[in-house]
Amino acid sequence: MNQRNLAPMASACLLVLVLLVSSASAGDISIPSPALYSQLETFHGHVCAGSIFGARLGLAAKEALKAAGGTGKVVATYYDLSCPVDGIQVAAGTTYGNKALTVNDRDEHRLILTAEGNKRSVEVRLTKKAEELGLKSRDLGKKIKSLPAGSQERLKLEREVEEIYGWLKTAPTAEVVSVVMIDGTKSR
Ligand SMILES: [Zn+2]
Repeated sequence: MNQRNLAPMASACLLVLVLLVSSASAGDISIPSPALYSQLETFHGHVCAGSIFGARLGLAAKEALKAAGGTGKVVATYYDLSCPVDGIQVAAGTTYGNKALTVNDRDEHRLILTAEGNKRSVEVRLTKKAEELGLKSRDLGKKIKSLPAGSQERLKLEREVEEIYGWLKTAPTAEVVSVVMIDGTKSR
């Protein structure tokens, strides 16, 4: 094949690639924006898998409830008193202060969001993959603390943790959380 035929082919390939990439994230309005994550970091005081989980759960639940036609004030119940609570407050806008958040400390990463107007409810949980990565980042964090600052081993583990956070922040919603309408219909 000569040089002249290659150029249009290469640009056709590029076009296909661009379409594939944009269709993978297009329409996934439940992926929090970088601005939301930086707001969360300021609010929560550090970056961690738990607070990212909260943002993913909170936004996915809020968007699913909106799509299901929920009306009126939105209230949240979360079943663990830990870092995700802050992500939920930032992403779903349901806060302790505005009396829209109840925490039931039962060691379950489960969020229920209810639209008080027509009592529509959605239940959101983490996928197994997300939960496993969260645990892995926590274990790596402990190891990192025991290593001397600036050591090669420590830098390697820090990069690994950053990669996990990156995935948790931006992976397609369906890979991070499962969304179920309370009447039992799988939403996505
Ligand atoms: Zn945290």
